[in-house]
Amino acid sequence: MTTHEKTQQYVLQTYGRFPLTVVRGEGTKVWDEKGREYLDFCAGIATCSLGHCHPNLTSAITKQATTLMHCSNLYDIVPQADLAELIVEKIVQQPGKIFFSNSGAEANDGLIKLARRFGLESGRHEIITFNKSFHGRTIGAMSATAQAKIHEGFGSLFPGFVYLDPNDLDAVKAALTDKTVAFLLEPIQGEGGVNVMTKEFLEGLSALASEKNLLLLLDEVQCGFGRTGDLNGYDTIAPGLVPDAISWAKGMGGGFPIGAFWVAEKHAHLLGPGSHGSTYGGNALACAASKAVIETIISENLTANVKAREFQIRETITTWQSPATTEVRGHGLLLGIGLDVSKLSIPEGKTPSIHLCGVLLEKGLLVPPAGPETVRLLPPLNVSAEEVDKALALIKEALDSHLSK
Ligand SMILES: *Cc1c(COP(=O)(O)O)cnc(C)c1O
Repeated sequence: MTTHEKTQQYVLQTYGRFPLTVVRGEGTKVWDEKGREYLDFCAGIATCSLGHCHPNLTSAITKQATTLMHCSNLYDIVPQADLAELIVEKIVQQPGKIFFSNSGAEANDGLIKLARRFGLESGRHEIITFNKSFHGRTIGAMSATAQAKIHEGFGSLFPGFVYLDPNDLDAVKAALTDKTVAFLLEPIQGEGGVNVMTKEFLEGLSALASEKNLLLLLDEVQCGFGRTGDLNGYDTIAPGLVPDAISWAKGMGGGFPIGAFWVAEKHAHLLGPGSHGSTYGGNALACAASKAVIETIISENLTANVKAREFQIRETITTWQSPATTEVRGHGLLLGIGLDVSKLSIPEGKTPSIHLCGVLLEKGLLVPPAGPETVRLLPPLNVSAEEVDKALALIKEALDSHLSK
């Protein structure tokens, strides 16, 4: 049986997978079982911030695995305390506390529980989230996600979410009720098509939150930890913004599963002993991995590389003057190339973005779609200028060969 056949037979078929079996990775490259090389601009969907098998990350994991892999949150764990300090002091740079989870959805569930506790005394529980958002697949995070296709066929959702269009502050003001307790949003919507929140919108929500005693909860699961060219995604859009809580996962582990949320010091009492937990969350191995990733991002100044590569990508795509592209959305290395599908000839019944990602795979480039009309670029934060040039040349080739006659 091939790996593909085995996957089909034994793994629940919840993913539409591309026809590729990846067996090895190094830097921005991965190889399939036949030894063919691919450029990886998917990077585990924005998780492999340092590329594959970065020596700092593999050595931190190896060292921790031979020291202490897992203990329990009933005891103090050195890498967990160190990582929490690093995130509070060097990333958020605001007084607060961290809770560790294993994934982004769990981190967002934590934010939802925080909001419920915050509104308890005043009898408020409604959280405003935004259309095309993606917050994860648990019942809580899925209910927060304002996309019908994510809810389909699962019956009643966890109650208390109100969905609005993003970047419309008046709509938010009009939707506030005496039950509203928080806003939850991605500064840049990743899965929903790389849609950027404006500075005015983020700052407006922050002002409204202060005025009405609401929580501003930011989902930085995809845009955090250097991805946008700053250590926090919201810093790229609205420098100086101070949220009440932030969730992360993806890039913080460099490919090792870990998530977390930060709560501002003034709210940290809301989640006290016994209120929340996770057996694996913040275990020694995961924290050692994340610490190595964050220290490398800072010591190698990878945010500067992110900004330089973003500039290179935007400049190059501008010179194409391709009728097939509408715009490049996003910040840093969380970018979406918008497709003008009216100018492209796509086989009947295929989703344009997914079809093009399949074509690019055949050409040796891994990129994920984001919504039906956007191809996403999410290379490692340390991707080189040469690798970017190579990837862009393949994308141009694919677009040119699909222009409608
Ligand atoms: C991927 C993602 C999630 C969910 O993270 P998981 O680790 O898959 O649970 C939540 N929010 C955003 C913005 C994401 O991109």
